[in-house]
Amino acid sequence: MQPQPVCSHGFAARRAAYIRIMRPQELLAPTPTGLHCNPGNFHIDPVRPVARALITHAHSDHARPGHGQVLATRETLDMMQLRYGGSFAGSTQAIRYGETIRLDEVGVSFHPAGHVLGSAQIAVSCNGLRIVASGDYKDASDPTCEAFEVVPCDVFITEATFGLPVFRHPDAAHEVRKLLHSVRLFPERAHLVGAYSLGKAQRVIALLRAAGYDAPIFLHGAMEPISRYYESRGVPLGDLRLVKDMKKADLAGTITLAPPSATSDIWTRRFPDPVTAFASGWMRIRARARQRGVELPLVISDHADWDGLTATIKATGAGEVWVTHGEEDALVHWCKSQGLAAQPLALVGYGEEDDESGAAGGEDGA
Ligand SMILES: [Zn+2]
Ligand SMILES: [Zn+2]
Repeated sequence: MQPQPVCSHGFAARRAAYIRIMRPQELLAPTPTGLHCNPGNFHIDPVRPVARALITHAHSDHARPGHGQVLATRETLDMMQLRYGGSFAGSTQAIRYGETIRLDEVGVSFHPAGHVLGSAQIAVSCNGLRIVASGDYKDASDPTCEAFEVVPCDVFITEATFGLPVFRHPDAAHEVRKLLHSVRLFPERAHLVGAYSLGKAQRVIALLRAAGYDAPIFLHGAMEPISRYYESRGVPLGDLRLVKDMKKADLAGTITLAPPSATSDIWTRRFPDPVTAFASGWMRIRARARQRGVELPLVISDHADWDGLTATIKATGAGEVWVTHGEEDALVHWCKSQGLAAQPLALVGYGEEDDESGAAGGEDGA
C-alpha cells in the first residue's frame, strides 16, 4: 500500500480540530463574576459590573445594575428599569423567547423559565455543543408568566433551591383556599400576607382571583409598581388598592399583600388584629414559620421542587448537569445515580437578596 502523503494527514487533523466538539468549560465557565462565555464575550447574571450581561430574570440577585450592555427579555429590562431607574445599564437589547441571536462565535436564545414574568433560560450553542443555563425555574403552573419550556441540550445548568427529596410543593391553589378559609373564619381580623414583591405577590393575587375571590385586594406601597406593570403586560389582577388610603376598621375581613419585612414591623399596627401569613416554599419547614411568627404558612414556591428538578433534568436529555444555587450535593448525587455526569458549580452571590433562596430579609424569591 502506498504511504499516505504527509499533507493529507495534516489536513485530516486540521479538519478534525475544526469540527471537534468543544469542551463545555470552553463555552461556559464559572468565574467569581458569574458564568462567563469566552467565545461569545458575555456573562450570564453577573454579580459584578461587566461589559456585556445576559440576564435571566429581574430578581435582584440575578439582575444587577451597572453593566455596559444588557440583553434580556422586554419584561426583565422593564422591571430592572422600574427598580433601578433609567440609567441601570449603558445600553439594552430586548430578546424575544425563541429568537436566536449571534454573539461573536456563539448562538444564543432565550426560553421561558416559568419562574416570574419575563424569566428566561438561556441556551448557548457553539460548534455542535449546547448548554442551557436555566436561571431560577419552576415547572408548576403559574397564571402570571409563560410556562417553563424544556430545551434539549448537552449540558443543563440547574438551580437547586429546593434540591432535597423532602421538598415536594403542594398545589398552590390548595394553599390559597387555606387563606380564603381563614378569611371566612375570622371576618373581624385583617389578613396580612407576606410575599416577595416581584412574582410571588402577583401569583398569589392571580390565584385568589382564580379561586373566585373578587373583593378588593390591598397592597403595601412597595408592591404597587410591579403589580401595575404585570397588569400592563396582560396579567389581570382585579381591583387593587393601597393600604395607606384605608382606615384601620375598614381593613377587617380584607386581604393585604406586603413585602415579608413589613409583616413583622410597626407597619402592622394599622391592621385590626392581623392574621400574618407568608407565601414561600420555605413554609414547608414549620420551624421557619414559627421563627418568623407566621400564623398561617402558605407553601407557594416559584422554584421547582425535588420532583420538578429531577423530571426537568431527565426531560432535557442532557448527559451532563451542573448544579448551583442551593442544595447542590443531593442533586449531584441523584444525577450520578442516573448515570449522568454532574458537578456542583461554584457560583457565589445568588440567593443573598432572594429570601426564598435561603437568606433572611430579602425582597424577592420564590
Ligand atoms: Zn429568582
Ligand atoms: Zn435566584
